[in-house]
Amino acid sequence: MKLYNIKEHSEQVTFSKALLQGLGKDQGLFFPVDLPKFSTFEINSLLEMNFIERSAYILSTYIGSELSKNSILSCVKNAFNFSVPLVFINDKIAILELFHGPTLSFKDFGSQLMAQMLKKVDYQLKKPMVILTATSGDTGAAVAHAFFEISNLHVIILYPRGKISVLQEKLFCTLGSNVSTISVDGDFDACQCLVKQAFLDSTLRQTLYLNSANSINIGRLLAQICYYFEGMSQLPYQMRNKLVIAVPSGNFGNLTAGLLAQSCGLPVKRFIAATNINDTVPRFLQSGYWEPHPTVATFSNAMDVSVPNNWPRIEELFLREKRSIKELGYGSVNDTLTEKTIQDIADLGYLSEPHTAVAYRLLYDQLDSDELGVCLGTAHPVKFKELVERCLGKQIQIVLPDLLTERMKLPILSYEISRCFSSLRNLILRITS
Ligand SMILES: *Cc1c(COP(=O)(O)O)cnc(C)c1O
Repeated sequence: MKLYNIKEHSEQVTFSKALLQGLGKDQGLFFPVDLPKFSTFEINSLLEMNFIERSAYILSTYIGSELSKNSILSCVKNAFNFSVPLVFINDKIAILELFHGPTLSFKDFGSQLMAQMLKKVDYQLKKPMVILTATSGDTGAAVAHAFFEISNLHVIILYPRGKISVLQEKLFCTLGSNVSTISVDGDFDACQCLVKQAFLDSTLRQTLYLNSANSINIGRLLAQICYYFEGMSQLPYQMRNKLVIAVPSGNFGNLTAGLLAQSCGLPVKRFIAATNINDTVPRFLQSGYWEPHPTVATFSNAMDVSVPNNWPRIEELFLREKRSIKELGYGSVNDTLTEKTIQDIADLGYLSEPHTAVAYRLLYDQLDSDELGVCLGTAHPVKFKELVERCLGKQIQIVLPDLLTERMKLPILSYEISRCFSSLRNLILRITS
């Protein structure tokens, strides 16, 4: 597989290089040189296959000879070892539940597959590899679990002390082994700032190979194409060409993957880009002007992003396919309406959470009478239990998956540091020596 840097087309890399490196020169995103196209016949037979075999087939088509079909199959088996049910909540709308992985959000798909593939690609690093990431909750947990106990690799995750929920902290700060967690006296921006400094620090760069495993990584993106096929495969045959998919969006990696699935032949009728009031993209699609505002905190906090880092890939795809960006549906939903929507969905007998509710609202409002809607369920409601209870005005009963109940009993293993960079540098050197 060859990829080019969107900002500088002459920079071309292999899949392994893109996986390892994340970004290209000038922070440019990598994009596939060739976009696979499946015929209608191939699509129909793909939709007959099971999730694992189909995903391996799709990924092999993208990745090509760099990884053997068998290694890809074993990566997929290890990574996607949880269910992806499509649950109808009324006769026209279903939720594709992407939150049954180890950390209960769709981010498990990308992180798990990326970790498995990193084990397989042939890289000869002369320095220890460190996956270094800042998190406001979900990403860190998914990355920590995905890279847990992978040999020759350290995972270091920074998070704002006291600013993530107990469940979130227990989820990824109790692992130990090659996963080190650091609570920082500051907010998420302070953590992100420290991570950026680390990537630029000459001492660290001389001694270590740093990789951020964030949502711009091509490995994470490819993984997400697979569940769009899985959602379609669970629909009755005659419904397959009427499908509208609403995607709760923050950095727009999820929607990028959906559009790539459509580009290679999955017959999705249209997509709806759903945001909270951090609505740079909906305003852009409305007015043609790109005008990010300062980021605002909302109920759907994993979507509190005002400069979505995957957006340039979406523009590149539309450009390459000579399609108009105007084909995208869009909309934004504020907290008051999100709260009301969580109640509306509960009235249908389904427990949701703020991210899924944002997408459901727009899907419900924009779906035509002859269409069928799928809303991506990106997080498990148990992760937002207190908030959902406040929205519904009552206590709710949701059982934690068994493994999490066990994990809640374990002690937090985090290091604590101030906001000072030199204390982070010393700690990283100590952990990795
Ligand atoms: C990360 C996240 C999103 C946003 O996904 P993007 O790919 O960044 O658009 C939506 N919902 C949840 C629960 C998330 O964790």
